Parts: sequence; structure tokens; C-alpha cells
Amino acid sequence: MRIFCIANQKGGVGKTTTTVNLAAGLAKLGLRVLVVDLDPQGNATMGSGIDKRTLEVSVYDVLLESATIAEARQPAVKAGYHVLGANRELAGAEVELVHLERRERRLKAALLAVRDEYDFVLIDCPPSLSMLTLNGLCAAHGVLVPMQCEYFALEGLSDLVHTIKQVHANLNPDLLIIGLLRVMFDPRITLQQQVSEQLSAHFGSKLFNTVIPRNVRLAEAPSYGLPGVVFDPASKGALAFVEFAREVVQRHG
Ligand code: ADP
Ligand code: MG
Repeated sequence: MRIFCIANQKGGVGKTTTTVNLAAGLAKLGLRVLVVDLDPQGNATMGSGIDKRTLEVSVYDVLLESATIAEARQPAVKAGYHVLGANRELAGAEVELVHLERRERRLKAALLAVRDEYDFVLIDCPPSLSMLTLNGLCAAHGVLVPMQCEYFALEGLSDLVHTIKQVHANLNPDLLIIGLLRVMFDPRITLQQQVSEQLSAHFGSKLFNTVIPRNVRLAEAPSYGLPGVVFDPASKGALAFVEFAREVVQRHG
């Protein structure tokens, strides 16, 4: 079982879109996938077709050890993977965990119990370097960073890289950045091409070959409770994510 965090401390950069579509892509390839929603906004939960408002047990209960993953997970039936969902309640876990033991290792411990049931676990992190994100980073083998090819993209990465180094040194020696994924890419924009080349020069093989284009079908899919890969499998965005799933399996399967 490979465990990856999808993280970037900026909001709106494509973390959730990457999580649910990579999950659906891996599922299409026949792999067993669990998505863990660690964002109190619950977008990965809703975007997988699970109503966060009616969730009775969630990742919140798992972190506070009042439920196991087996009790809290839900099947995303059409997308072909399982979801450990989140909702607003999760925002409270941040405060509640502070006083507890092994507070940053709760998710790691819970995942041990299902390690034979999944090939991949994808953790959708909130856009902050919080106790929730720390739980994700402690549990993971690697971090996958979606990024837009904008002028300040590289600068924004330095905080995340610093945090990953800290976690690597103090809490999780397994942790490394497994790769950067270019998302919402528009090849007609010269600046994006230039930044893409800079990323390639700077990160070399840590940059995934697959590039996710800006594609409106990917943005429409969540309102139907589906990943784009399932909502419109023939769309350019969906095809790119299935290709990306293949690349992830080739490199890390
Ligand atoms: P984050 O989880 O980092 O906050 P999201 O995945 O929610 O980011 O993406 C932010 C917004 O951009 C959402 O409205 C999403 O539908 C849209 N989006 C993400 N990726 C693409 C893409 N490749 N093409 C078009 N829209 C996208
Ligand atoms: Mg998100």
C-alpha cells in the first residue's frame, strides 16, 4: 500500500481535483484506492458523490479514535474507490488533538489496520500547514504537489518544502516529495510555457511528464458528485488524469 499526500499550502491550486481524478484513474486501472479527505471543506467527499452533510462517521472520528477506517469509510460507487469523508466537524479536530497523545500519528495508526485492503491511499490536504496536514504527512510515503505554472509558483513552494524537510527529519523519515504535477495548464499562454520550462530545469525527474490541461469538464464534474474521469471520460482533462495515473503506477506502483 502506497500512501501519498496531495499538498500545496495555496488554496484553489487543484489539490482536490488531482486527488479525486487520480483516484478514479487508478481505479480504472484496476487498483484499490482509498481517498482520505483531510480538508474540513469536504470537497473531495462531495466530489466523490458522498454528501458531507449526512456523514455520520467521518475522518474526524478516526482521528479522535472513536471509529476505525473500516467503520467510517464509504464507497464512491460510480468512481470505483472508497472515501474516508470529512465535513465541518473536522475543523474542531485541530483544537481537540492538541492535548492528545500521538496527536500527529493518528491517521498513520488508523491506516495500518487497512493496509492489505488498498493499493493506494490518497490524502487530500487542506491549504494550510496544520495539525491535520501534519497527520497526512506523518502517514505518507510521499507528497504529490499540484501546481499552476504561474510566476510565483516556485516561491510558494518553499514553505511546503521546508515543512516536508522538518517532518522528514523529526517525524517521518520515509517522507519525500515524489513529484510535481503541472495542472490547469494552458499552452497558449507564453508565461505558462516559460514557467513550465523553469520547473523542468529546476526539478528534473521530480516533475511528472504528464501535464493536466485547463479543461472545463474537470471543473463541472464536482457539481455532479463525480470526478471528471468518470463524468466525461473522453474529455481532455479526463484523458490526462488517466495518463497521470499510469505514470504514477509506473514510477511508484
Ligand atoms: P484546491 O483543492 O487546491 O483548493 P481545487 O481542486 O478545488 O483546488 O480546484 C480549484 C478550482 O479549479 C475548482 O473550481 C476546480 O474545479 C477548478 N479546476 C481544477 N483543476 C482544473 C483544470 N485542470 N481545469 C479547469 N478547472 C480546474
Ligand atoms: Mg481542496
